[in-house]
Amino acid sequence: MIVVPEREIAGLISAADCFTAVEQVFASMAQKSAYNFPVIREAIGHADALYGFKSGFDRESLALGLKSGGFWPNNAAKGLTNHQSTIFLFDADTGRCHAVVGGNLLTALRTAAASAISIRYLARQDAKVLGMIGAGHQSKFQLRAALDQRAFGKVVGWNLHPEALDRLAAVAEERDIPFEAVDLDRLGAEADVIITITSSFAPILKAAQVRPGTHLACMGTDTRGKQEVEAGLLAAATVFTDEIAQSVTIGEAQHAVAQGLIPAGDIIEIGAVINGTHPGRSGAEEITLFDGTGVGLQDLAVASSAVDLAISKGLAVEVDA
Ligand code: NAD
Repeated sequence: MIVVPEREIAGLISAADCFTAVEQVFASMAQKSAYNFPVIREAIGHADALYGFKSGFDRESLALGLKSGGFWPNNAAKGLTNHQSTIFLFDADTGRCHAVVGGNLLTALRTAAASAISIRYLARQDAKVLGMIGAGHQSKFQLRAALDQRAFGKVVGWNLHPEALDRLAAVAEERDIPFEAVDLDRLGAEADVIITITSSFAPILKAAQVRPGTHLACMGTDTRGKQEVEAGLLAAATVFTDEIAQSVTIGEAQHAVAQGLIPAGDIIEIGAVINGTHPGRSGAEEITLFDGTGVGLQDLAVASSAVDLAISKGLAVEVDA
C-alpha cells in the first residue's frame, strides 16, 4: 500500500494536473462510465464535528475509493485546519487498499479545477473582468485557477467581512492584475465571470445584479439549506453542474427546483459539454451558471494522479496494509 502524506501534495501535483484529472472524470460521468455512491454526512455528537464519506468508481480509469473526513470547528484553536480529509484508493480488481492520500490540499485543488473547467468551457472568450464573492480558505485556489482560463485584466471582489479580501488582492498581485473591493451592484455590473465561494445560507447575489452574457461558477453550496444566489437567477440562466442528483439536493439548484422555477431535467452535466454532446454557451447574451457541488469522483481522480506522480518521482512511501 502506498502512502502519500499531506505534506508532499503541494510539491507533487499542480493545478494543471488537477484540471486534467477532473476534466477526464467529468467526461466519464456524462458517459455514465463513472458514478458516485450516495454521500454520507453525519453530526457525530462529539467535538461539534460533521463527518462523512464521498465515494465512487470510474470504470475508465479504474479509480475506486472514498474520501473520508469532514469539519471540526474547534481545530483552528489547536493549530489545525477545520476541514480534514483523507482519500483511500482501492484496487478495482482485488479490493485491496492501494493508497492512502492526504486530502486537504487536494480538496481545494479539485474544487478550483471544477470552476476553472466551467470557465474554460462556458465563459465568453472575451471575458475581461473576474468577480469573486467570498474570501475564505478556498477563494485563493479558485482565483488562481480561474485566472488561467481567460485573459482577465481585472479582479473585483466582495466579502461579508471586507478585511479578508486582502487574501484575494495578494493573489491578483502575484499575477500583476489589478484588484478592487466593490459592492455587489458594481461586481455584477462589471464582471464577465463570477465565482461564489461562501458558506452562506441566504442569497447574496440577486438576479437583477447580473448582466446578460455572464458566466457564474457557484461553488459554495454543497449542503442542504446553503444558498449563494437568488433562485430566480437560475431561471434566467442555463444551468450546468457536475452531477444532477447532487445539484438538486445539496447544490445551488436545490432552491430553484424546489420552488418550481426550473425543472431538474433542464440541468446539464458539464461532462456533456466536455464530451461535445452539448454545445455549451449558445450566444454572447446567454447567462451560464455552473452549480459545482463537489463529487467523490473528483477526489479519487486527483488522488490517483498524486499517487502516479509520487511513484514516478520516487516519493511514494510503501507500507504493508
Ligand atoms: P471559509 O470558512 O474559509 O470561508 C467562508 C466564506 O464564506 C468567507 O468568505 C465568509 O465571509 C463567507 N460567508 C460566511 N457566511 C456568510 C454569509 N452569511 N453571507 C455571505 N458570506 C458568508 O470556507 P471555505 O473553505 O472557503 O469554503 C467556502 C464554502 O465552499 C463552504 O460552504 C464549503 O462547504 C464550500 N466548499 C465547496 C466545495 C465544492 O466542491 N463545491 C469544496 C470545498 C468547500
